[in-house]
Amino acid sequence: NFSVTVPVRSHDELGELAQSIQSLANELNYLKKERNEFLASISHELRTPLTYIKGYADIARRKDLDEFERSSYVAIIHDESQRLNRLLDELFYMAKMDLPTFTVSKETVRLTTLLQSIHEKVLPAFTNKRMQLHLECTEDLLMNLDPARFEQIMLNLLDNALKYSNENTVTTIKANRAPGTISISIIDQGMGIPDEDIPHIFDRLYRVEKSRARDTGGFGLGLSIVKQLVEIQGGTISVTSSLDQGTCFTIIFKGDN
Ligand code: ADP
Repeated sequence: NFSVTVPVRSHDELGELAQSIQSLANELNYLKKERNEFLASISHELRTPLTYIKGYADIARRKDLDEFERSSYVAIIHDESQRLNRLLDELFYMAKMDLPTFTVSKETVRLTTLLQSIHEKVLPAFTNKRMQLHLECTEDLLMNLDPARFEQIMLNLLDNALKYSNENTVTTIKANRAPGTISISIIDQGMGIPDEDIPHIFDRLYRVEKSRARDTGGFGLGLSIVKQLVEIQGGTISVTSSLDQGTCFTIIFKGDN
């Protein structure tokens, strides 16, 4: 630990210096604790699929299995490997975003065209699950943003709408202009988020219910990546939700977009 005791109580320059050293030490200790907790959680996330892979690989080697049993074990090994891959991809991307070399390249884009192409891209996944995906963007809105990063934000939020909603529900993408701002909302009719979880859902590795998240394959990294991608482009993201009714994520970009 960075244990610094600076017993200077005066209010002069020396006192101020002592105080800032003390608060720097507190900050470092806090960061160290956060880093350790993060590493512990990551190790746990890595261990779970590995345990499955090893366990089923051992069983699949048995000689008394029929072809059907063996192939179902191999399928589990395959799914768990993909899960590991996804986790590593997300971790790698997160690390990349923290580097000073990570920049955005903004350009003027037609929001309507961009949203239409995103809608087209994800529609099959919604149709497959017997869900509807509507796009409401009447005006031709011009915006200054990084199209690739914006698409990544939208794909993440739409993937969540898909994962956390049942069939026969509608998800709507809405874009609106107000003076000086453009907002984009993704509104689903899914399971919603409990009030007590809302303040934490943008935290790294936070999941509302670990078991429900495991079934749907999430690690709780998606929304923290989304928030960072929105903020790096000068935007803000907020959420409103009600349990069993649905969730609405809203991204707001300010300025002369
Ligand atoms: P995950 O990869 O687990 O989906 P995210 O960071 O994307 O992680 O989301 C964090 C948690 O927030 C999820 O585990 C889920 O419980 C909740 N969540 C996110 N989006 C929605 C949504 N549209 N509807 C209901 N719950 C959601």
